[in-house]
Amino acid sequence: MRFDQELPTVTNQNLFGLSTSATLAINERSRALMDAGKKVYRFGFGQSPFPVPNSVVESLREHAHEKDYLPVQGLPALREALASFINSHTGTRFKSSQFLIGPGSKELMFLLQLSYYGELVIPAPSWVSYAPQAQIIGRHVRRLDTLPENGLLIMPDELEALCEQDPSRPRLLVLNYPANPTGTTYSEDNLRDLAMVARKYRIIVLSDEIYSELNFQDKRVSIAYYYPEGTIISGGLSKWCGAGGWRLGFFAFPEGLKRLQDAMTVCASETFTSTSAPIQYAATTAFKMGPDIQEYLKTARFILRDIGYYMHRKLVAAGITMPKPEGGFYLFPSFAAHKELFQSRGIETDRDMCQALLEEAGVALLPGVEFGCSSDLFAARLSYVDFDGAAVLEAATGKDALDDAFIETHCPQIAEGAKAICDWLKK
Ligand code: PLP
Repeated sequence: MRFDQELPTVTNQNLFGLSTSATLAINERSRALMDAGKKVYRFGFGQSPFPVPNSVVESLREHAHEKDYLPVQGLPALREALASFINSHTGTRFKSSQFLIGPGSKELMFLLQLSYYGELVIPAPSWVSYAPQAQIIGRHVRRLDTLPENGLLIMPDELEALCEQDPSRPRLLVLNYPANPTGTTYSEDNLRDLAMVARKYRIIVLSDEIYSELNFQDKRVSIAYYYPEGTIISGGLSKWCGAGGWRLGFFAFPEGLKRLQDAMTVCASETFTSTSAPIQYAATTAFKMGPDIQEYLKTARFILRDIGYYMHRKLVAAGITMPKPEGGFYLFPSFAAHKELFQSRGIETDRDMCQALLEEAGVALLPGVEFGCSSDLFAARLSYVDFDGAAVLEAATGKDALDDAFIETHCPQIAEGAKAICDWLKK
């Protein structure tokens, strides 16, 4: 065979049309503009700005020599720490045997969709990866439209209306709160009522609680409390612990879904084997939530809250609409009120809008269509983490709130970026 000839590449048909596009394309273009000396406000990328807490880094250092494969299900001490952490925060009663550790919760979500055959039900908008994972595996996806007045969250009657159409259909519902991309979260009443619908139609709920520790109210509520028999909780280190690159996530399964847990454990054993040993030891320290970590989280929460509120206030004043954030580090602004202005500038879709914002104002946002929204809603995700997390964490220590002067001094990209968006609309 001659190697200068292209080899035939046969890919699974389910992959057709999928690309690593949105985030990557925006980041590449942002980088190119920055390399060309242009100022760019990087609000497109959803990563924690804060460093990993010292005690967790120290624990990783201490365990660097741990070289053996760990059990597929995960390090027993980590699963113990997770059980007491989850139970004490959500009032549930998980045992350590009900956990599965994976290299990021995203990988576990993929194995869940592979192992469970039901239709995937997700809100529009929702996180970018749920639907592509379903597509790769060949699962049907139902998106439920949401309303701004409901914080862009699924309401119980909307779920009921969907289930009524085909009551016996097996379904996997993903609820993510605080949510990416909206920054909003479900009230306890909503969760209780959603649980009633889920129970009635025997829906499996994946409660994606990866941002729970960043709920501004420091109140972890889980639908698992109301619907323990049908809820899988998902979480990890990536968002609250600043450790996205460490790749550690977990699932907590109800006892009644043991067969599903076992099926996923088989898939895990045949794919990633087990999650990195030193990371699992360090994660044990993290989830024990010592006083230093609690202090770190308390500070991180009010920093994100006050920066989120600041950005929200500035944008709302410019006629941009969006729910007020309640946790995490995202806003989901809609520029629909500026539709006519956009049309006069040749901007027809949210993608055009994000492209123009980047080229003309140096602001990187991700278009709403990537999150399942209709393109003519002119929505986008804004991730307000373009600041030096380590420096801001230090400067904010000892406080319990940030005022505008603090934000404008210590987070100049946030203040200037907000102004750049507003000025761009006025142009
Ligand atoms: N769920 C949501 C809503 C997310 O935003 C992310 C990451 O961006 C994940 C899950 C996956 O997190 P990880 O795989 O790092 O645990």
